[in-house]
Amino acid sequence: MSIAPSRQSLAATAPVVSTTVTSGVPLLDVQRQYQAIRGEIAAAVTRVCDSGRFILGPDCEQLETALAAYCQVPHGVACASGSDALLLALMAYGIGPGDEVLMPSYTFFATASAAWRLGAKPVFVDIEPATFNIDPKHLERSITSATKAIVPVHLFGQCAAMREIVAIAKKRQIPIIEDAAQAVGAELDGRRAGSWGEIGCLSFYPTKNLGGFGDGGLLTVKDQALAGRLKLLRGHGMEPRYYHHVVGINSRLDSLQAAVLNVKLPYLDDWTAARQTNARLYGELFAECGLDRILGLPKEAANSRHVWNQYVIRVPDGRRDALRAHLAQQKIGTEIYYPVSLHRQECFSSLGYGPGSLPHSEQAANETIALPIFPELSPAELRTVVHGIAAFFGVSRHAGANRPHL
Ligand SMILES: *Cc1c(COP(=O)(O)O)cnc(C)c1O
Repeated sequence: MSIAPSRQSLAATAPVVSTTVTSGVPLLDVQRQYQAIRGEIAAAVTRVCDSGRFILGPDCEQLETALAAYCQVPHGVACASGSDALLLALMAYGIGPGDEVLMPSYTFFATASAAWRLGAKPVFVDIEPATFNIDPKHLERSITSATKAIVPVHLFGQCAAMREIVAIAKKRQIPIIEDAAQAVGAELDGRRAGSWGEIGCLSFYPTKNLGGFGDGGLLTVKDQALAGRLKLLRGHGMEPRYYHHVVGINSRLDSLQAAVLNVKLPYLDDWTAARQTNARLYGELFAECGLDRILGLPKEAANSRHVWNQYVIRVPDGRRDALRAHLAQQKIGTEIYYPVSLHRQECFSSLGYGPGSLPHSEQAANETIALPIFPELSPAELRTVVHGIAAFFGVSRHAGANRPHL
């Protein structure tokens, strides 16, 4: 079974892509990665089952230590999901009613729901069109005396403008909580996602670059006392057993997930390199057939290590949905991340953001489409995707023709 590409699709019973489809290209096929390491996974799962220890435990501790080091921070705190990591981070800072939390509007819902669930107000900031990430200038203008946290998102696998954001936050002593759910291993100036702010939030949702076999998340933390507080909060605020000084939540990581992730982590850099190769090849193939002049291709900022959780292009002139339908006919999987920016979501209508209030976020929501980029794709499959798009725009399909090895 392959994983369906969106949460909405996951709610449906039938996966939208399948390894049994020989033509076409799936948006994501988690089977290919699993098949390559299934012996190691089976051994790890059996070991956990034999141990009888299913919650937290040594596998989680190993993951916390290894991922903290990978993300260049001293402490890691595993939890039940990326969404919970965001929630726990805000809880650790005591954020609640009357507080404002700044974040980009163009992101996954969990970035905002964490603040909302605590009674705080999400304040939506527009994005920079070139990177899809939060615009530091608009961020600075949005700060008020009620601003209690800044949550930049490293969208699609590329770090936000952290140099500028850290400078803005430092001046006013506002904590930064990075939403690094899509960006494990991403770098700017050699510094990893999750190491810029006070806390970084990772997700192991199966579509992420380090995907578990279920839900999971982890907080990367610089300060030891803060890490201790997060550990307390993820376990009902209980210390010692059955004594509660604060009210926490249940957000522990399963040992089985940790064991699977410990098997996968040593492969992550190879998988990231394969994603980078795929992104480069897309760029070359699009240029060869002139599509780079029609489409908005993703750009990698200077001094950055983009880890390409998603390869997202812009389709101009309102033709995005028609292109998507055309590709679907050829069984080429795509997804729209995200069709509605958060400031325009119905559940946040009471915040009063009208149409056009964050124009760059709204334009991205209307123009973007994600193409298959997962590490195990073959060059031939990438060429199939590019040819499918070339056919839609009626441009010559000779991409890669001068390179028969593709
Ligand atoms: C996936 C994701 C989350 C939430 O992570 P879960 O593990 O699915 O709860 C939060 N923010 C962003 C940007 C994400 O992509």
